[in-house]
Amino acid sequence: LSTNLEAIWTKLRNQDVLTRENVKEPMQDIRRALLEADVSLPVVRKFVKSVTEKAIGIGVIKGVRPDQQLVKVVNDELVSLMGGSRAEIEFAKGGPTVILMAGLQGVGKTTACGKLALYFKKKGKSVMMVATDIYRPAAIDQLLTLGRQVDAPVFEAGKNIKPAEIARRGLTEAKKQKIDVVIIDTAGRLQVDKAMMNELKEVKSTVNPTEVLLVVDAMTGQEAASLVAAFNLELGITGAILTKLDGDSRGGAALSVKEVSGKPIKFVGEGEGMTALEPFYPDRMASRILGMGDVLSFVEKAQEVMVQEEAEEMQRRIMEAKFDFNDFLKQTRNLARMGSMGGLMKLIPGMNKISPQQISEAEKSLKVMESMINSMTKQERENPELLAQSPSRRRRIAVGSGRSQEQVSQLVSQLFQMRARMKNLSTMMQGGSVPGLGALEEQLSG
Ligand code: GDP
Ligand code: MG
Repeated sequence: LSTNLEAIWTKLRNQDVLTRENVKEPMQDIRRALLEADVSLPVVRKFVKSVTEKAIGIGVIKGVRPDQQLVKVVNDELVSLMGGSRAEIEFAKGGPTVILMAGLQGVGKTTACGKLALYFKKKGKSVMMVATDIYRPAAIDQLLTLGRQVDAPVFEAGKNIKPAEIARRGLTEAKKQKIDVVIIDTAGRLQVDKAMMNELKEVKSTVNPTEVLLVVDAMTGQEAASLVAAFNLELGITGAILTKLDGDSRGGAALSVKEVSGKPIKFVGEGEGMTALEPFYPDRMASRILGMGDVLSFVEKAQEVMVQEEAEEMQRRIMEAKFDFNDFLKQTRNLARMGSMGGLMKLIPGMNKISPQQISEAEKSLKVMESMINSMTKQERENPELLAQSPSRRRRIAVGSGRSQEQVSQLVSQLFQMRARMKNLSTMMQGGSVPGLGALEEQLSG
């Protein structure tokens, strides 16, 4: 970014409203930032145009400076370009969920197979991987090794059978064993070519997958757009996995995926190890893409505005007593994001007595909590009662997240304490008495 960025933004700060004229210079900075982040040029052009139109239509918002407004528009637009919110894996209604992996050679397909297998196992599902890369020497061995590492069976039929036939046999075997998720590893090429596409199409029509995930190396940069377009057009994809985000890539490829294919990124890979797989969160990626130089501080300020909006939504859910682990995670993240800013606390009923020290503790325990909540199934997140009732579920989560059973019990108990406090609050408002926590604590100590 240019060194006079600060001056440009300061100039904007002192204006009343955003106009086509005064957003021009800052938008050029954003444009440059996006190009530096390896977002492809057509995507950048479209983005800048759309943000400019939105920004100048806003008018004056009380208490929000124009520069913050602009960054909020930029950030929101980035987030929505990447799909808005987290996109989950689809599961098949009956029979196994089949995930077909596709992508160029060396992007991390085989590694992602192992990571996904571990991810689903942590969620309590049985997984089988199928080796159909019959070209690369040692490709089958690589998958077998990963299978042993994550403790998932691998179906292979050597190198002398066509990939589609291997996939068909693998699926038959998985059905026989009542496997929940079948992950099919495939061969890549250095470039998109007809032979690869035809082979993938044949596998696809043979196994009729629930998901076709395109694995994209984040370092691909500008070329990601045409790559994604080719795979989506030829093969048809349902989503993508962006790998090697632990490198020094800015993650600009993430922007192209959804824009070009209309399909979301579902996971990101952040390392070679089997646990280095994270769900894709568009808001975090937006921060990463904008997280360069001076833009970041503006993003943070814009987030203050967003956190406030989120807090109000949270308050509504609290009043309806629907507070679940998803809310819990969101709230804890907000706490961490806001750091020592006490502002958020005042917005949440029953939470205004929290000290700065408790906030910093919340920051520290966020990672621990996230790991445990990530190991819960969707159902468990939405119905914390399931966890209070079942020691075996708590045990599974402890194993999956590498935490102790006590830590899992503590987390569950914490959520119910929060709920009780909220209930307490609304009961007090209605003049009733407060329900005890005794029964729950008894359950959790078992
Ligand atoms: P494939 O040809 O698409 O199956 O790619 P592989 O799964 O064999 O991976 C190619 C190389 O990239 C291996 O050395 C992997 O360890 C590495 N790799 C895969 N995913 C990641 C990632 O998210 N981060 C890093 N740093 N390396 C990765
Ligand atoms: Mg491979």
